[in-house]
Amino acid sequence: MSAPYDDNNIFAKVLRGEIPCKKVYEDDHTLAFEDIHPQAPVHTLVIPKGKYVSLRDFAATGSDAELAAFVRAIGKVAALKELEGQGFRIIANTGVDGGQEVPHLHVHVFGGRRLGRMLAQN
Ligand code: AMP
Repeated sequence: MSAPYDDNNIFAKVLRGEIPCKKVYEDDHTLAFEDIHPQAPVHTLVIPKGKYVSLRDFAATGSDAELAAFVRAIGKVAALKELEGQGFRIIANTGVDGGQEVPHLHVHVFGGRRLGRMLAQN
């Protein structure tokens, strides 16, 4: 399991409405919003509303409804951003080796240009 959930992480503040976001999609279990420092023409973040640090604890303890909503939300973002034709990439940085900076599970949805090789060469 991951470290205990930190209620002061930036995405917890977004979920509480303490920090604004550019919302792309929302349902009962999931919120999607624009990344504040986009690295591609489309760079949207998809997060569960529940308190999950990473994919590890979401997969282990999230409800089936939450898991289904999360995956469907990723698909909805791809459709809303019209990425289905040309394609896109999703990334869930996890833990230290994964380079995760915000300790609330999030999937990055990238698209709108050729994204190159899968990993940076460093
Ligand atoms: P990661 O390295 O996978 O944890 O990515 C965290 C992402 O959150 C980065 O791409 C940041 O640009 C993004 N980010 C940080 N703060 C905000 C914010 N307030 N609103 C939207 N995106 C944010």
